[in-house]
Amino acid sequence: MALLVQKYGGTSVGTTERIKAIADKVKRFKERGDDIVVVVSAMSGETNRLIGLSKDIMEEPTPREMDVLVSTGEQVTIALLSMALNHAGCDAVSYTGAQVRITTNTAHTKARIVSIDEHNMRSDLDAGRVIVVAGFQGVDETGNITTLGRGGSDTTAVALAAALKADECQIYTDVDGVYTTDPRVVDNARRMEKITFEEMIEMASLGSKVLQIRAVEFAGKYAVPLRVLSSFTEGPGTLITIEDDGSMEQPAVSGIAFNRDEAKLTLVGVPDIPGVASKILRPISDENIEVDMIVQNVGLDKKTDFTFTVHRNDFKRAKSVLDEVCINLQAETSAGDNDIAKVSIVGVGMRSHAGVATKMFEVLSEEGINIQMISTSEIKISVVIDEKYLELAVRTLHSAFDLDDTKTVEES
Ligand code: ADP
Ligand code: ASP
Ligand code: MG
Repeated sequence: MALLVQKYGGTSVGTTERIKAIADKVKRFKERGDDIVVVVSAMSGETNRLIGLSKDIMEEPTPREMDVLVSTGEQVTIALLSMALNHAGCDAVSYTGAQVRITTNTAHTKARIVSIDEHNMRSDLDAGRVIVVAGFQGVDETGNITTLGRGGSDTTAVALAAALKADECQIYTDVDGVYTTDPRVVDNARRMEKITFEEMIEMASLGSKVLQIRAVEFAGKYAVPLRVLSSFTEGPGTLITIEDDGSMEQPAVSGIAFNRDEAKLTLVGVPDIPGVASKILRPISDENIEVDMIVQNVGLDKKTDFTFTVHRNDFKRAKSVLDEVCINLQAETSAGDNDIAKVSIVGVGMRSHAGVATKMFEVLSEEGINIQMISTSEIKISVVIDEKYLELAVRTLHSAFDLDDTKTVEES
């Protein structure tokens, strides 16, 4: 008998038919003798619909009211799934985040979990009930509803698994595991049996939204066995593991991630004097805008071009801040580009393989794709390119680094 935390995402609970199918699936686990805690997302499209409603009222509602609004999506699904389980003859009880008592800090719309009271859940588990918990939401010390950021139900599931010391945290979704890249973009992407926490954190943070990055970090920190599986088909899915002992030959690149959510800003012809970088970025961070990649290059004329990327949602605000900085620093001009994308190759095997970056750049240049920015770490290389070449770049790199699923190629 195992204690399993199972999370079902938006498409898995997208209709009442799907909810009934999930109830049958959960019931089968329960009948096998496992204790089950289920975490659910809102029905697919619901969170976006709720955000849309708020925009009809005003552009920037207070984050507190946004949380009250968007947390309702998950409250619907916990009730419907509990009903479906009860209807199927399986004793189940729903919990909102506040009812569990998932306490978070007060950072509305991006709150972090501080503690979880497992006491109430334990007594229901001991009484043989399935527990159905609303993902994505918590409550702060004073009782305000909070949410954990988009995709946050993954983090709820991992956090509950850690608190309850579950045997496994299973993330059920609309693909049957973690693939070498998004299978919706590359047809012959390959499902991985295993991926290390380290690689999964990079993949998630570089744009592979199959798991929320904080969920992976949490699982790594608390050693929660984590698996991604399909809620539609049977199969082993992908296990997220600690790095193997080195006995296996690692491929240089194990996955490709990409992200269309960024925009690029450049300050051209800034006088090259100490303190310039901070003078450019300080007003940006004062506006609470996060910066991702940064490139600076000093020309022979002792002037610097300073380029950085921000989230696309922050582009307009960042550009107007930069326009002011441009005047204050007596730079030549400021420029912005919204039509960029970031493509990254990821792999712990890169550490022991030389020339991976060179190969990546060659492959892109053979396709005539211009690289606008580059950033590297021990286990990843990211480039910024024109968005219109994104899919071509991902497909070409996928095959150049031997990631294509040869079975699919032969069959097709
Ligand atoms: P859920 O609603 O279940 O949380 P998400 O839409 O958040 O599902 O995540 C699943 C999606 O992640 C898939 O449909 C797939 O398009 C996308 N995805 C992106 N990168 C990958 C990858 N490397 N492997 C698998 N899926 C990926
Ligand atoms: N419903 C939330 C979202 O769409 C949380 C989640 O699905 O994980 O982001
Ligand atoms: Mg998700």
